[in-house]
Amino acid sequence: MKVSNKESRRENSAYRQLERRLERAMALQAALTLFEWDNETLAPKQAGEYTAKVQGTLSEAYQEIMTGKEVRELLEACKREAGLTEAESAIVREASEELDKLEKIPPREYRAYQELAARSARVWSEAKEKQDFETFAPTLKEIISYQKKFAAYQAKEGQKLYDVMLDNYEKGFSMEKLDEFFGLLKEELVPFLKKVTNSGVEIRDDFLTGDYPAKKQRELAEYLAEYVGFDFRRGVLAESAHPFTTNLHNHDVRLTTHYKEQVDSSLFSVIHEAGHGIYELDIEDELTQTLIGQGASMGMHESQSRFFENIIGRNGAFWTPVYKKLQELFPEQLEKVSREDFVRAVNKVQPGLIRTEADELTYSLHVLVRYELEKMLIEEDLDVEKLPKLWADKYEEYLGVRPQNPAEGVLQDIHWAQGSFGYFPSYALGSAFAAQMYHYMKENIDFDGLLQKGQIEVIREALRRHIHRFGKMRESRRLLQDMTGEDFKPQYYVQYLKEKYGELYQIQE
Ligand code: ZN
Repeated sequence: MKVSNKESRRENSAYRQLERRLERAMALQAALTLFEWDNETLAPKQAGEYTAKVQGTLSEAYQEIMTGKEVRELLEACKREAGLTEAESAIVREASEELDKLEKIPPREYRAYQELAARSARVWSEAKEKQDFETFAPTLKEIISYQKKFAAYQAKEGQKLYDVMLDNYEKGFSMEKLDEFFGLLKEELVPFLKKVTNSGVEIRDDFLTGDYPAKKQRELAEYLAEYVGFDFRRGVLAESAHPFTTNLHNHDVRLTTHYKEQVDSSLFSVIHEAGHGIYELDIEDELTQTLIGQGASMGMHESQSRFFENIIGRNGAFWTPVYKKLQELFPEQLEKVSREDFVRAVNKVQPGLIRTEADELTYSLHVLVRYELEKMLIEEDLDVEKLPKLWADKYEEYLGVRPQNPAEGVLQDIHWAQGSFGYFPSYALGSAFAAQMYHYMKENIDFDGLLQKGQIEVIREALRRHIHRFGKMRESRRLLQDMTGEDFKPQYYVQYLKEKYGELYQIQE
């Protein structure tokens, strides 16, 4: 093999040496990912404790490589090395950030926190089962105080603690930007939702629930995942209690789903996960198995899953070529239901208490509640004891429903029990990114026409070219800007929702 001068000269460069160390770290990560996947899908119940030991050892080995003297010195050398490609610079940036995070927290505190977090998840799940917030409150207080401490270690001068936390999930979206975003949602969508619920339009959806055999649902799930572009030669679909997507590299991407009596629940969750999966499959070979071989951010990932689930999957045009397949699989339930009625049913707006069951219109209002409360907890030292009531008040104000117990209120999500403060906003940002991409695409291609003809590959290719292939090399805000020619503009999201649901519920604005 002929090696160019440039390449041979760089064979022993600091970057190449770093690359070899990172390869080992990434191999350990891949093993950890595989264990996580296994725990959720196939591992026997009693494996837990024993496997956890293996995972603990692997994750220690990972930390040793990442925070070791060698990597540290090589990173410094790389920062001085000229001629790195964009991908290489991004990898150096990611590794430095990872090192920073691991290094700034004193190991003793980190271990104590890990133990607390493991206990916290258990306490939370028991409290939820007993519908008793009081038993969880002291643990939550501890989690919050650790999270604040860790954020303070990480904070750059003058940076607010909640901004540090937000930065961990979505760079470029600080409180200032999010206040604007959520402010707009509150101002526009809360009154709009009231109009929808008072519109008097009744949408029938009883046929979505019933005896939908799991075997046939599985057939449908595989059909749909493939139909929207998920490549089963490089991916698999399994079952788990909560649907999720994980990947080892761009030739091994794994989706899970669940099959419920409500056919649209598993149907859309599989399209959602396929969206996550397609993103991972489309990442360039050059980037996969490196620190930037994954989606750009939580929000960008969620934008792709929601793009597939809602903007493609809940679009009437999508069902033109597909609905007959559904009728063939479930003749008893759907033979007499028209395609139009089916599409209306899967877009029905029903303000409820549970975020993960929310429809497209109300979803971001669930996130709004969490954003406002997180900000108060972190920035205003809100007393944890006041959470259940504040939660209920906000649900009543924004969604018109009030939880009767904390299990269907403040205890419903695991995120806070795991210390994931700053995570929630990325769910809503994802929907807004997707709407901005949709707006841009509609101006350039006949979106509905393509769906009607079953040519999703044209849409997918646009997403691959502008977003997917770059992995984590560029930040989400930059990708959005490069694709659409505009900075993040949440107005497109509001406009999209108002247009779609205004038509469905016959609302004159
Ligand atoms: Zn998702």
